[in-house]
Amino acid sequence: MIVILGAGESGTGAALLAQAKGYDVFVSERGTLAEKYRQVLQEHHIPFEEGGHTEEKILAAELVIKSPGIPDKAPLVQQLKAQGTPILDELEWASRFTDATLVAITGSNGKTTTTLLTHHLLTHAALPYGLAGNVGQSLAKQVTAGHQPGYVVEMSSFQLDHIEAFRPRVAVLLNITPDHLDRYEYKFEKYIDSKFRITENQTADDFLIYYQEDPVVREELAKRSVAAALLPVSLADVLPEGAFVEGTDLRIKVGKTDWRFAIDALPIKGKHNLINAGAALLAVALLGADEARVRQGLQTFRNAPHRLEDAGTVQGVRFINDSKATNVDSVKYALDAVPAPIVWIAGGVDKGNDYGQIADLVRAKVKALVCMGTDNQPLQKAFGSFGMLVRETASMADALRVAFAEAAAGDTVLLSPACASFDLFRNYEDRGEQFKAQVQQLQSTQTTTP
Ligand code: ADP
Repeated sequence: MIVILGAGESGTGAALLAQAKGYDVFVSERGTLAEKYRQVLQEHHIPFEEGGHTEEKILAAELVIKSPGIPDKAPLVQQLKAQGTPILDELEWASRFTDATLVAITGSNGKTTTTLLTHHLLTHAALPYGLAGNVGQSLAKQVTAGHQPGYVVEMSSFQLDHIEAFRPRVAVLLNITPDHLDRYEYKFEKYIDSKFRITENQTADDFLIYYQEDPVVREELAKRSVAAALLPVSLADVLPEGAFVEGTDLRIKVGKTDWRFAIDALPIKGKHNLINAGAALLAVALLGADEARVRQGLQTFRNAPHRLEDAGTVQGVRFINDSKATNVDSVKYALDAVPAPIVWIAGGVDKGNDYGQIADLVRAKVKALVCMGTDNQPLQKAFGSFGMLVRETASMADALRVAFAEAAAGDTVLLSPACASFDLFRNYEDRGEQFKAQVQQLQSTQTTTP
């Protein structure tokens, strides 16, 4: 029997695929099943349990497909490992039942943006690839339905931890900066190894697109043997092949492809997004997308919310929602992209953040720091001595009120927390939505006040 641990989008999809392939399958969810997944399982007569795991049943499985949300250090996972039960990720499982072309995108930051852009451009180029992994629908579910020529898959390190034969024709590695170290025994090397697994089954016929100026990626590539053909993205050098900046253009040069796009006209802004756009454009060029259609596609792309999203302007103060910035590196790019003076709202659940790398940017551009969270010690410690105003708040309403009071016309209020959101919010989306709601409220009070 195949046991599925965790019944979210990926678990339910994995169960459907297992059943379609004739396996006995059992789904076990520790929490409560979301109604839509309960319905799917019931409709397909797939047995499941919720509110806890029946250990004997799970330990008797021939194969376990584990949700990426369940850490390897969970006692049940440890027991399975100790007795030698194979534990796979849903993406690995799905890839075993398809010959479709796989484009897999990973990195500490920029995965969703790059995945969505790649998928959008392929769709416009009449290459109807599926969108899967952490965005879109479960890959296993799509493979069960079949027929797509390929899939663009966003992959986190947790998914990469449980692949065996997953082989992307095009892999993208955007950057590697410390993140999720709590899941890697606080050892950065282990997290790096996990990210590089995206290349481990590739051959010389495949491609690895990577950001050349990322110091970790660069150093590791010099040490490791990667079979795939390497295609760099660079903001610093003009390259013989790859994606790079030349004058005011982003140039994509690979094989017979030689495209130039005006940087100013790209649909996503900031240096980090130039890297993401370069990687996405290289990927679609490799997959044979037509230039004219790609150009059209670029004009209609809108990024997902909560990523440097314009949340509105009140009395000349601009509000930017970057709630998705849950680590220090993404805040660095946000502070770089947003004009000064900045009133910066940050804080939440600290993941062992090292704020040293943004100290100079904060000094140069931030005029006030609004700490928002239940424990603001790490932020206070890092910036308390900078001489700028630092205020403590414990809710979004409070944070917005304080930030708006500190901001003058022409300033930007930036929510870019560098932290997880679980102390005050359900998730980063909830945090971003609350931010936008507060801005709207400010807008309406400003217009109704005489
Ligand atoms: P992910 O899916 O990897 O979390 P997203 O595309 O959702 O990445 O972007 C999350 C945040 O990371 C954005 O708000 C932005 O601040 C930052 N970011 C995006 N792309 C990059 C990049 N290439 N390098 C560094 N930071 C980035």
